[in-house]
Amino acid sequence: MSAVSFDPVAKWDARVPLLIVGAGAAGICGALAAKEVGVDAVVIERDAVPGGSTALSAGLIPAAGTRFQRAKGITDNPDCFAGDIRRKANDGAAPAALEPVACGAAPLIEWLTDFHALPFELVDSFNYPGHSALRMHGLPSRTGRELIDRLRHAAELLGIVILTESVADRLFADRDGRVRGLEIVRGNGIRERIGCETLILACSGYGGNSELVRRFIPEMAAALYFGHPGNRGDAVLWGEALGAELAYLGAHQGHGSVTTPHNILITWAVIMQGGFQVNARGQRFCDETRGYSEQAAEVLRQPGGIAWDVFDAHIAGVARQFEDFQIAESAGAILTAGTIDELVAAMDVPLDDFANEWHTVETLKTCGKVDRYGRQFAPEQRLQSPFCAVKVTGALFHTQGGLAIDATGRVKRKDGTVFPNLFAAGGAAAGISGTSAAGYLSGNGLLTATVLGRSTGQVAAALVLHQAE
Ligand SMILES: Cc1cc2nc3c(=O)[nH]c(=O)nc-3n(C[C@H](O)[C@H](O)[C@H](O)COP(=O)(O)OP(=O)(O)OC[C@H]3O[C@@H](n4cnc5c(N)ncnc54)[C@H](O)[C@@H]3O)c2cc1C
Repeated sequence: MSAVSFDPVAKWDARVPLLIVGAGAAGICGALAAKEVGVDAVVIERDAVPGGSTALSAGLIPAAGTRFQRAKGITDNPDCFAGDIRRKANDGAAPAALEPVACGAAPLIEWLTDFHALPFELVDSFNYPGHSALRMHGLPSRTGRELIDRLRHAAELLGIVILTESVADRLFADRDGRVRGLEIVRGNGIRERIGCETLILACSGYGGNSELVRRFIPEMAAALYFGHPGNRGDAVLWGEALGAELAYLGAHQGHGSVTTPHNILITWAVIMQGGFQVNARGQRFCDETRGYSEQAAEVLRQPGGIAWDVFDAHIAGVARQFEDFQIAESAGAILTAGTIDELVAAMDVPLDDFANEWHTVETLKTCGKVDRYGRQFAPEQRLQSPFCAVKVTGALFHTQGGLAIDATGRVKRKDGTVFPNLFAAGGAAAGISGTSAAGYLSGNGLLTATVLGRSTGQVAAALVLHQAE
């Protein structure tokens, strides 16, 4: 159980200028940025090999105005991007973070490409709900595992120390909130105390802490948690004990398309390209294109807490660029059939209800009318044999609430002032997704982790250098 101690520490085992808890995208981007100005961060990481939720993601980062977009003739800019984030969050995106992420994303992608050799490319074969331009940037495998491995490699090349198999367990601070250091538990059970000038909490959210999920996101308390189990809400618990302001605690990224029982993510591209969802009765139940995040709770409300993604072989070809989809195919999760009757038999849903929905959807596609839920299908999205279906459920991916920060990543107290040397980034900080799952625009997670991880590393390093003068 993470805790805060206000007792003075007589002797530190080591002292470092900058400590970072968590070697996910936020922590490593912060360490890389600090190193650039000559500050050596030490990163504390629970796992033997850094991964976090970053490794579980598709590794797609949205950015507006990149050279990768320009090369493909895409017109986009940070204002338009900020507008999309704000609209999806129903005007609830944390204002302090909104402009920095919208403006900082393109430089972030180009910085990681040019200085740290991450070969980003624009994903131009489909778009995600709520983005008014093609702006997702991904690595060749479209996996977060590749993203975190390449970030770790970049850190290793620069000699950044990542203390793996080390859990930050206790935070030491003065009564006025100045952080003094951490007690960590090494893999062999030995406890060490490391003093620091400045601390960045990059240990993500509380999805791995069922008690906190029940407290802050009760509607997802029974849902499958698909994020990193080591994200146990330490930042929120330390923040609470220090008197920090906590914000947007109900916000989260859900996903309404995780195969069951295999638990493999099926990209939302299968829906956006013209697929749709039906429940176990063969009936549609909402406009799927509002977003995959809010769709998690919709799916869980259906009989048995499941739904079927229905699409075709052409769409499967688009989805196959994601390794997860290929794994789902190898696992036998994707049903394929030459006719609707055969597909329905394999799905085991009522034929009449399903055939009725199918006919309605395909007719709507030809006439371009809006359906009963408000979804508009495009004429070119008619499904062709062979047809496909996959049984899915809703899952909690990660939490978006956390420590309230100012525009530079400094953690705020309840009275609005900031702690002198405490920063937060990524899933540890309050995000830009408003107050619920519906406010999550695709990419908000890695966007805040990478962009604010980098900028927080820069500001924390500047503070270290200033204190040393
Ligand atoms: C299945 C899935 C798909 C996703 N897809 C996308 C996507 O395509 N695009 C997108 O933008 N977002 C996506 N997300 C969200 C995204 O992965 C997260 O928002 C992002 O990775 C958060 O980065 P982070 O660095 O803050 O946290 P993490 O990557 O989770 O890293 C936190 C690290 O802190 C460590 N840690 C925690 N507590 C301690 C402690 N006390 N001591 C030591 N170490 C500790 C953990 O072990 C972990 O390694 C997805 C999430 C999931 C689960």
